[in-house]
Amino acid sequence: MWRIALSRRETEDTRRRQLIETTIDTMAEVGFVATTLGQIARRAGVSAGLVAHYFGDKDGLLEATMRALGARVSRGAAARLAEAATPRARVQAIIDANLAPEEFDQRTGTVWLAFWGQTLHSQRFKRVQAAYQRRIITNLRHALRQAAPLQDAQRIAISIAAIIDGLWLRATLSGWSETDAAAAVRIASEFVDREFTGLGPRGAGSGKMTGSAAQAGTTGGMQRLGAHIGGRAVRVGDARTFETRNPATGEVLAEIEIAGAAEVDQAVAAARAGQRVWAAMTGSARGRILNRVADILRARNDELARIETLDTGKPIQETSVVDVASGADCISYFAGLAGGLAGEHVDLGPGAFGYTRREPLGIVAGIGAWNYPLQIACWKAAPALACGNAMIFKPAELTPLTAVKLAEIMAEAGVPDGVFNVVQGFAETGRLLTRHPDIRKVSITGEVGTGMKVMADAASTLKYVTLELGGKSPLIVFEDADLDNAVSGALLANFYSAGEVCSNGTRVFVHRSVKAAFLERLAARVARLVIGDPLDPVTQIGALISEAHMEKVLGYIAKGRAEGARLVIGGERVTDGALARGCFVQPTIFEASSDDLAIVREEIFGPVMTVLGFDTEDEVIARANATPFGLAAGVFTRDLARGHRAIARLEAGTCWINHYNITPIELPFGGVKLSGLGRENGRAAIEHYTQLKSVYVALTDIDAPY
Ligand code: NDP
Repeated sequence: MWRIALSRRETEDTRRRQLIETTIDTMAEVGFVATTLGQIARRAGVSAGLVAHYFGDKDGLLEATMRALGARVSRGAAARLAEAATPRARVQAIIDANLAPEEFDQRTGTVWLAFWGQTLHSQRFKRVQAAYQRRIITNLRHALRQAAPLQDAQRIAISIAAIIDGLWLRATLSGWSETDAAAAVRIASEFVDREFTGLGPRGAGSGKMTGSAAQAGTTGGMQRLGAHIGGRAVRVGDARTFETRNPATGEVLAEIEIAGAAEVDQAVAAARAGQRVWAAMTGSARGRILNRVADILRARNDELARIETLDTGKPIQETSVVDVASGADCISYFAGLAGGLAGEHVDLGPGAFGYTRREPLGIVAGIGAWNYPLQIACWKAAPALACGNAMIFKPAELTPLTAVKLAEIMAEAGVPDGVFNVVQGFAETGRLLTRHPDIRKVSITGEVGTGMKVMADAASTLKYVTLELGGKSPLIVFEDADLDNAVSGALLANFYSAGEVCSNGTRVFVHRSVKAAFLERLAARVARLVIGDPLDPVTQIGALISEAHMEKVLGYIAKGRAEGARLVIGGERVTDGALARGCFVQPTIFEASSDDLAIVREEIFGPVMTVLGFDTEDEVIARANATPFGLAAGVFTRDLARGHRAIARLEAGTCWINHYNITPIELPFGGVKLSGLGRENGRAAIEHYTQLKSVYVALTDIDAPY
């Protein structure tokens, strides 16, 4: 099945590429106006219906062509940038890519010029053109920031982009008589050389950066980030700021501008305008754009995973296979559902019928926690946007970086301006969103106490809420369980992301007859876990999010000891060598004989597992449910009847039988009791991002008693 699906997709990709090439040829020959869908179909030897099937309409085909041209230049730039070691070489890489012989020729130049002419009158093309322009300026500025102050970097970046555009334009208009690609590269390079000389020693040197900040894309000076509103970065000159740090080293990664009431109002206004455009598109059209977002996320997986690791302290071996991928999968999933959103027809007899329309809510606020910053942003944005809403997202103040990347990627993929916005800040910024009268819904991931405050604030304007909150989930290992699988499950349930996972099964109930064997195998495997530099691919346990949080976790470990739990393994902060600069705590296992200890009752959100014994099924279910939380639960048993029976009795929103913490996008995720309201993922999320309108349609005269 899979092979067949793959090869069909490959054939479709080839067809799409061929049609785009034919479009480029046609436009180069006959120009923009004379290029028609029928003509392209004829030249490509296919039916006009097939072209429409792939691209929708002529504008869809032309937009895809423009994107293909932009993507080709980007690929060329990325390949050259990977080889470039110094700021000067990086700038050269961008010039070489844009003025490469295959780009700087009559055919390509003519087609670009045709697009530029149309850009002024087409929102669709304007978005693609703006994304392309943004990318070249960002790449140039990023390269230049290592050698020049911000203002100079911006000025020189714009000058270089203008020279490249100007060279293209002149060459095309002059019939390619003035310059060829090599001469064009020389002209641009001479300008850059002069500018670098003018920068003095900082520019003349390589401006090399070392260490993780360089790899994260931060600059030699500190990167300053603000909001992303209406499709572009918005800077507030006199904003209050805070710093975001790498918890593995203490190093400052960026300075972040706090959004106040003015920026939140600006975001709401942009979202209102963007949502009108977005909601007017068909679901399939929105889905096509969202699929591009997912594609770009996957293409940039390694770069985004690296930033996430720097910002959160989580091991790169997790972020590079989970965080970005799960976000992209979620966006693809909801992109697929977007075209199928529908109401229902209701038969009301011969004289009438009714139908329902599933409509977007409007503007939705997303507020994120710090443990899965990009994934949370995607999990909230995907259903919201698929349903035609606009979103204003506030990441947690400890992890502000990747939400902005997501906003940039949305813009690049063609999501209309204002549909996905990011504001930065602390709880006050969050409150500005939850209390804003024009925002119709808020979806928050965070602590139970925060969820309660958000719900109370949302009540004043009667907003819908989705609350993804904390937990203290049980994992039950029956005596007939495959013990190695159960140990694997307990490890997955506790030590991923150094235990900073809301659904973690931190109360591990093991049948007394197998508890000693379970503990022995568990401790042996925990002893082999690798704690270390999160950027090292062999590291399995990275840093906790902050010093304050590490102190909280260490405080719980001290409490566990003081209250009489037996420490099986771990229990200490790790300060070997360079790790002393960061927030590292050993994976820790306690064995406890009472459910009343603080480590058994309260959410620790760190690498601390407690193993408890039990004798009967009824007893363990009662103890598992004796908590105000209800996010998740797991059961290990070979007796599937018992597995289903136990799960049915457990008070939890997200459950596993013979596994733990696996969260396929296709399954709804969320909690019961104090762990939350509403669901993310799965078709169920659609209910939480749409509202129903009922319509009664009379087919006969009205029989009125008046
Ligand atoms: P917090 O509750 O501290 O913060 C969550 C977000 O809410 C942050 O962006 C925070 O801003 C913001 N915020 C805080 N107060 C308010 C307010 N009054 N109004 C509006 N926004 C506010 O959670 P953490 O970031 O510490 O995340 C850890 C918690 O999240 C744990 O309890 C964990 O279990 C839970 N979680 C739940 C998940 C689930 O799906 N159920 C998944 C992941 C985590 P800032 O921090 O910037 O000040």
